[in-house]
Amino acid sequence: MSRIIATAGINGAHKIVKQAEEILSRAIDEKGKDCPVEFPNTGYYIPIIYSMTAIAVEKLSDFEEVMKEIKDLLPPLVEDELWTPYLGPLLDAGMATLFAEEIIEACKYIIGPNPVDNIWLGAADDMILRERGIQFVDGSAPGFAAIAGAAPDVETAVEIARKLQERCLYVFMSAHHNGTTFAEQLVEGGVQLGWETRLVPFGREITSAIYALGFASRAALSFGGVKAGDFRRNLLYNKNRIFAFVMALGEVTDEWYATAAGAINYGFPTIADSDIPEILPTGVCTYEHVVSNVSHDQIVEKAIEVRGLKIKVAEVDIPVAHSPAFEGERIRKEDMHCEFGGQRTPALEWLRMLDIGEVEDGKITVEGPDVDSLEAGGKMPLAVVVEVAGRKMQADFEPVLERQIHTFMNEAQGLWHMGQRDIIWVRISKDAAKAGFKLEHIGKLLHAMYHDQYSSIVDKVQVKIFTEEGQVLKLREQATKVYAERDARLAGMADEDVETFYSCTLCQSFAPNHVCVVSPERPGLCGAYSWLDCRAAYEITPSGPNQPISKGKCIETTIGQWDKVNAFVIKASGGGVERMSQYSMITDPMTSCGCFECIAAVLPSTGGIMIVNREFIEMTPCGMKFSTLAGTVGGGNQTPGFIGHSKHYINSKKFIAAEGGIKRIVWMPTMLKEDIKDTLIKGADELGLGGQEFLDKIADETTAATEEEVLDFITKANHPVTTLEPMF
Ligand code: SF4
Ligand code: ZN
Repeated sequence: MSRIIATAGINGAHKIVKQAEEILSRAIDEKGKDCPVEFPNTGYYIPIIYSMTAIAVEKLSDFEEVMKEIKDLLPPLVEDELWTPYLGPLLDAGMATLFAEEIIEACKYIIGPNPVDNIWLGAADDMILRERGIQFVDGSAPGFAAIAGAAPDVETAVEIARKLQERCLYVFMSAHHNGTTFAEQLVEGGVQLGWETRLVPFGREITSAIYALGFASRAALSFGGVKAGDFRRNLLYNKNRIFAFVMALGEVTDEWYATAAGAINYGFPTIADSDIPEILPTGVCTYEHVVSNVSHDQIVEKAIEVRGLKIKVAEVDIPVAHSPAFEGERIRKEDMHCEFGGQRTPALEWLRMLDIGEVEDGKITVEGPDVDSLEAGGKMPLAVVVEVAGRKMQADFEPVLERQIHTFMNEAQGLWHMGQRDIIWVRISKDAAKAGFKLEHIGKLLHAMYHDQYSSIVDKVQVKIFTEEGQVLKLREQATKVYAERDARLAGMADEDVETFYSCTLCQSFAPNHVCVVSPERPGLCGAYSWLDCRAAYEITPSGPNQPISKGKCIETTIGQWDKVNAFVIKASGGGVERMSQYSMITDPMTSCGCFECIAAVLPSTGGIMIVNREFIEMTPCGMKFSTLAGTVGGGNQTPGFIGHSKHYINSKKFIAAEGGIKRIVWMPTMLKEDIKDTLIKGADELGLGGQEFLDKIADETTAATEEEVLDFITKANHPVTTLEPMF
């Protein structure tokens, strides 16, 4: 333990705390003690403070209590160089720093300067947290690099960022050095910033580093089931599951030290390019806390080595980079060399299995003109036909594999893909075209990725690409028939038709008690796993998170309970859940992890339920926004009266069948109504509720904001729920 670090860190903490006191008293002077304070759209208040102390800050005066906590943690100012064999005082100073930095940033949202400015994004809301946080735990993003400062020049910055992206890491940026910032350097180097490209500029000051650590703290609460105030488990969760480190580029000030000390609490080490004292492993630690003097061409490798990341990157022989980090990259019209589909030209993708003798592995054919025949901004038809063979391959796996085309293609830099089947839309960027990217590279890429990820079922892959309109149209005719057959397979299936349901425990990596029981009529709550998908996934990976559950004896038909399903759930939830109903949101409802597309909640006085989708961020009639509701419902608990579910499930005949199904729906946002309109109208028609007429009886944000107003609306509309028994 270095004395200089302790001195700098503790003194830095004092400086930040003083800043926090000043801005807080200014904010109180200007806005008053009762002025509400929050980061946008989050149910986790001011997140580091909330997750570590359980103090739910809602107004400025609440920060006074936090200030007391800070004072308790803050070690006395160090006059001379301090020597201590323990990290304790430094770690406390680090935590005090983070709390103080949150106060500073939160006050900035009230009295300025606004943290969201120009390229700077400020706090990430809960929608981003769910969407992105999940990647940290399912492995598609191993973690993040929190960069403080700036590289010596633009080229070095771009190179460091690319290396981090290629390793699928998020890059969180804060603080400045030498009058510039890493983020501004990337912009100058023509690099696209944002959550989509995993290059996230939080702010120009070191205080904005709390947005990265606040993100990590919230991940533990929302995915890890960690309770607010349980700082020990929160920090351990992060140490064990979130692979993150701080990369300090430039002169490390006292304030940077103090913030880095905060990060060490989470098990996130600091790697610096400057000559600062190191903190090497002691008896209990397995790795260094601070490593200094690392050269820029080594710094990414060093960070990965120190934090112990294991990253597997598939080798793909194409002229552009390929990594999950490029998945969210957009290609604007001005940057586009050419496009396919998207209502502009016919385009489709289709994966089918053939006999092993009919597939020549690695064969890529392109029929019709290639992209170099087009002027910039051009368009052409496209059919991508992937033919696979394998001893363990089955026709049922076709749609599962086909859906991967979207991900695989998006992961190539300069290639953008949207939609599926015959509604795809693909763009190739000017940069990619300049680098020599041609249509055959789509084939090479798909060939490499199917071998990399599906080697257990796929032995051979060949890809045929067509751009001649006549040929594309002919293929589309064939493919549409196949798509329709696939849909009919699942649509025609009822839960009664099968003896086996499937579990999904993928989300247990962050919600340890949660089990999705997936049946033909109830998909997983994230919307990504149907019964057919789970069955295919089980056959592809027999020891994976999707296991068959034979239903066993039926205990109760209406609520949908079976003895063997219950037995499975008890075991898979670690004893946390004893009984689970497939069709009820009142009696032993299914647990919710965190990735539900929608939440259904009882509105008691109306006798019905409201459903809110994740994209709707306004207030709902139950008095909570989606983000707050998600905090109540998620985390792997059973919450009678509330369930998380997929959009698709609303249109299932088994949607809360025990409580009366869609007849109970009294409120939905207009965007959700619009989204599921066609099938909902059809379903209502079948129940004799009069399709569109029923839809019109459901209140939305334009007609009712409170539960009372919903009751008013449905009474006037003569909604069928008024004829049903009470729900409880
Ligand atoms: Fe998670 Fe359930 Fe989706 Fe599986 S089906 S990924 S457990 S939400
Ligand atoms: Zn989940």
